[in-house]
Amino acid sequence: MVNGHEKLTVEVNNQYQEQGASASYKGNELTENKKIEVAGKVDTGKTGEYVLIYSVKHNGITSKVKRVVEVVDTQAPIITLEGETKLNICPKDDFKDPGFKCLDNYDGDITDKVEVKVKKDEVIYTVKDQSGNKSQIERKLNRKDEVSPELGLLGPKTLYISVNSQYKDPGYEVYDNFDKDLKDKVKVSGQVDASKLGEYVLKYEVADCSGNKSGAERKVIVTDQPLPQGQNSTIYLTFDDGNSSKTIQILDILKKEKVKATFFVVGTNLKPDIMKRIVAEGHTIGLHSDTHKYEQIYSSTSAFFNDIETLSNKIKEMTGVETKILRFPGGSSNAVSKSYTPGIMSVLVNEVHAKGYHYFDWNVGSGDTGPISGDQIFQNVVSGLGVKETYVTLFHDIEKNQATVDALPKIIEYGKSHGYQFDKITMTTPEIHHGVTN
Ligand code: ZN
Repeated sequence: MVNGHEKLTVEVNNQYQEQGASASYKGNELTENKKIEVAGKVDTGKTGEYVLIYSVKHNGITSKVKRVVEVVDTQAPIITLEGETKLNICPKDDFKDPGFKCLDNYDGDITDKVEVKVKKDEVIYTVKDQSGNKSQIERKLNRKDEVSPELGLLGPKTLYISVNSQYKDPGYEVYDNFDKDLKDKVKVSGQVDASKLGEYVLKYEVADCSGNKSGAERKVIVTDQPLPQGQNSTIYLTFDDGNSSKTIQILDILKKEKVKATFFVVGTNLKPDIMKRIVAEGHTIGLHSDTHKYEQIYSSTSAFFNDIETLSNKIKEMTGVETKILRFPGGSSNAVSKSYTPGIMSVLVNEVHAKGYHYFDWNVGSGDTGPISGDQIFQNVVSGLGVKETYVTLFHDIEKNQATVDALPKIIEYGKSHGYQFDKITMTTPEIHHGVTN
């Protein structure tokens, strides 16, 4: 008799466990049991019926038993959709499939066997493998959009330029609930003749694929008078020592205000989600310190660069971004480094440039390291603004700094209404340096 069942089913590509057979004569196990021969083989890589014959010889008589093993394929193929499973498509456009793949445990890649039916509000993908196992998956289609895009001007709505200077449009941003990228579809009409005094109007218009429109206007005044405060000035908002939960609140404000900024981060505070968001929303990341421990980073120039490189690698790993923008802990003017290595800052300011970094101190303080109210921070910042081209403001996006978060919308509003532009620090931003004291 066979051990186990006489009829067995095995899933294709699974292992078949031979359970063997045993023989007995008049109730006694035969010693020849170990001599039972098996004829036939099970190929679990192929569906079908396999017959195994077990035979044993006893007293010159051969006894045989058989087992039928059926290798079956009961697993349905798996269809995977590329792109979004709920797809917005323009009512005027034909459906363009973002792609799909179909793999079967037995048939392999049967993507070309998938049938695609495009209906009004869904696309249905069906497939059947050789063994008759079926799969179906749907992609939902949304073909209706009644919401207009949002067109936001970067820079001021009224912009002054000096006669005979060159007009450079600060640009715009577009967001639409439905269309992915409308920025290229914005039409700008009107022209600025910078050689002639006067007021010019530029009109910006955009329509989404469903025909929902939105627009904005900018007045450009060509003048031979001194430019009003803020015109031709850029404020670079910078936040040190993050990430923290305040970073998230700051990102929310910047997003709402369509303002870009720069985050000088500390390695031990990094949170991958926040770091990715900073990059995704168009801000820049600067190197501040991995540990922010003065006694360590200013113990030698090599200790300083080790610290910066550790931080740089962490940032790269989390975001893919390799940044060369740097802010010394304490600023390049710090005196605290003197107690660890006299003269180190004088060496470092040159060496960072030699290694291709750009370093940024600040020329507007917010005072947000001490106990301070949002109103005081606002006062500190706006009193530091004037008619220079470049203002780098120093804030700290650390956990305790609710006041910084409170002050930020007011500072942005003040800047915008006084003609300032906001931007993030990049490698082309003019560097702002303090005087070195060590
Ligand atoms: Zn710092």
